[in-house]
Amino acid sequence: MCGIFGYVGSQSNAANLVLEGLKLLEYRGYDSWGIAVKKGKTIAVDKHVGKIGDASVSLAQSTIGIGHTRWATHGGVTVANAHPHLDCKKTIAVIHNGIIENFSEIKKELIKKGHTFISETDTEVVSHLIEENLKKVGFASAVRDAFNRLHGLNAIVVMYAPSKEIVAAKTGSPLVIGVGENELFVASDAVGIVKHTRNVIFLEDNQMAVLGYKLKLIRLPHGKEIPPKIHRINWEFEQVSKGKYKHFLLKEINEQPVVLKNIALHHNEQARILAKVIGDAFGTFMLGCGTASYAALAGTYIFSHIAKKHVNFSIGSEFNYLEDYLTNRSLVIPISQSGETIDVVEPVERAKEKGATIAAIVNVLGSTLYRQAKYKILLGAGPEKAVVGTKSFTAMVAELLLCAYTFISKQRDGRQLLLETAKDVASILGDISISKIKKVAQTLKNREHIYIIGRGLSYATALEAALKIKETSYIHAEGFAGGELKHGVIALIEKGTPCIVIAPNDETYEDIVSNAQEIKARGGYIIGIGPKNNDVFAEWLPTADTKEATMLSQIVISQLLAYYLALARGIKDPDKPRNLAKSVTVK
Ligand code: GLU
Repeated sequence: MCGIFGYVGSQSNAANLVLEGLKLLEYRGYDSWGIAVKKGKTIAVDKHVGKIGDASVSLAQSTIGIGHTRWATHGGVTVANAHPHLDCKKTIAVIHNGIIENFSEIKKELIKKGHTFISETDTEVVSHLIEENLKKVGFASAVRDAFNRLHGLNAIVVMYAPSKEIVAAKTGSPLVIGVGENELFVASDAVGIVKHTRNVIFLEDNQMAVLGYKLKLIRLPHGKEIPPKIHRINWEFEQVSKGKYKHFLLKEINEQPVVLKNIALHHNEQARILAKVIGDAFGTFMLGCGTASYAALAGTYIFSHIAKKHVNFSIGSEFNYLEDYLTNRSLVIPISQSGETIDVVEPVERAKEKGATIAAIVNVLGSTLYRQAKYKILLGAGPEKAVVGTKSFTAMVAELLLCAYTFISKQRDGRQLLLETAKDVASILGDISISKIKKVAQTLKNREHIYIIGRGLSYATALEAALKIKETSYIHAEGFAGGELKHGVIALIEKGTPCIVIAPNDETYEDIVSNAQEIKARGGYIIGIGPKNNDVFAEWLPTADTKEATMLSQIVISQLLAYYLALARGIKDPDKPRNLAKSVTVK
C-alpha cells in the first residue's frame, strides 16, 4: 500500500516533482499525504489529510525531496500520523511502507532514552532510531543499522538535513530507482518515474540504496556494495495519464480490445513455456487474491475443459494452510497484477523453500513475484492505475486460455477465439451496448443487494462480476454457483431482487436458465448476460459466442455496469474506492 516518491538531482523544484510523482502513485493509498524537502540545514514539511487530488505545495526551492501517500495501518488518519515523520531535532524525515512488527518495543526503548513521539504510527520509531544511531555513525550507516532492527516487511526512504543524499531500504514492499541525467528518483512503482526516465533499477529485498551525486547499492545487513542492474521500461508516459477519459477505470476498460489482441498475437511463446512447465509438473497450484483469485479459479475450469488437465486453485492468503503437501515436483503459479501482493509473495517464498517451481503471471516487470519466479509470464496490459482491476483480469484469463489451447497443440484456435473476443469487446464498448448498460444501471442503482449466478467457468465470472459491483458502486453484490441456490441462497430472493445470470452458450446454459426461472418464480428481476436471449430475462445484455472466451465479454459488461452504477449513485472518484488501495503489500 502507500505511494513513495523521492528526488535528488539538479532541478530545484523537488517539492513539485515529488507532488507530481505522488499524484501518479495515489492509487496505492489515499487517506493522507505529505512532502518534505531539504531547506538549507533544516527540513520543511507539508502534510494533509485526504486525497492529493489537485493539491499544490508551496515549500522552499530544493534539489532534494521525499513524499508519501498513506494507507493507514497504525494510528488514525490525521495530519500528525501522515508521513514524513521527523526525529526530535527535526533534521531527519522518514517515509515508510509496511508494518514494523516490533515498533512498540523500540518505541519504549527510545522513550526511555528521552525521545518524544508526536504520532501514533509505527513509522516514527525509524526517525528517532536513526537520530540515536547518528550519535555513533554517519547518515547511511545510521539508516542501515536502524533498518536492520525492524521486523516485518518494510520499505523506507530517509532524508537528513545536513546531507545531500537520500537513503532507501527495503525488505518487502516495492521500491524502484529511476536513473536520469544528473538526477535520481525513487518510487514505489515505475509509474511515478517514466515521465522522467525509463532506466530503472528494481531494489531487491534486503538491499539499500544511497541516492546522491552517484548511486550506491548496498546489500543488507552488512553493507557490501553491489553493482546496479539497469532495466529499460517500455511504457510511454501517456499510458499513465487519463487521456480523454474522465476516469482511469473507464480508460482501462476501454483498453481491453488492444490488450486481448496483443496476447493473441504476441504471447505464443509465453503460452508455450507455461504449457510445457504445467505438463512437466506433478501438481499445479494457481494462487491469487481478489480479482486475480477469480482468474486463478477460472484457470482451473479452463484447464479442465480445454486441456483435460487438473490444476488446483487457492486464495493466496489461504495457501499457507495447504502448503504442507508441496514437493520439489510441484508447480506454483502466482497470478498478480502488481506482482507485489504480500498474500501471494509470502506463500510463494515458502513454496520455493520446499523446492517447488514458480511460474509467475504478472503485469509489472521487475516486481517481487517476477523476480521470485523461474518462469516469468508478463501480461503486457500496460500500467493499471484504477484501484479496481479490469484489463489485468481479462489479460490473466486470456493468457490462461491461450496456454490451455497451447497445451493441446491448438494454439491457433485459442488465438482465434481471443481475436474474435477482442472484436466483441470493442463492440460492447460502442454506444448501443453502453446505453443499454446505463439503463440497467439506472434500474439497479438504488438496490441494496444484487445476486449473480453462473455455473462452471461462469461461476468464476459471477464472483468477479460481483466483486466489481461491490468495490466500484458499494452495492452489496454476491456471486453464487447456480446449483447452490436451492441449498440456501434462494431464501434471500424476494419481489424485485435483481439477479444477474451469466449465461454463455455452453453446457451450463439450460441449467442456469432453470435457476433463473426458479428465481423469477419468487419475484426476482433477471438480467441475462450472454450470446442467447431467453424469455426469462427481463433485460438482456448480449455478447458474441466465443466459447470459453465469452467470459471475457461478460466480464467487460459487468465492469461497465459496475462503473455506471457508481456514477448513477453519485460516486465521485470510482478510481479510488473507499478503504482500498491498489497493491496490497501489508498483511
Ligand atoms: N504503517 C505505516 C502507517 O500506518 C505505513 C502505512 C503505509 O504503508 O502507508 O503509517
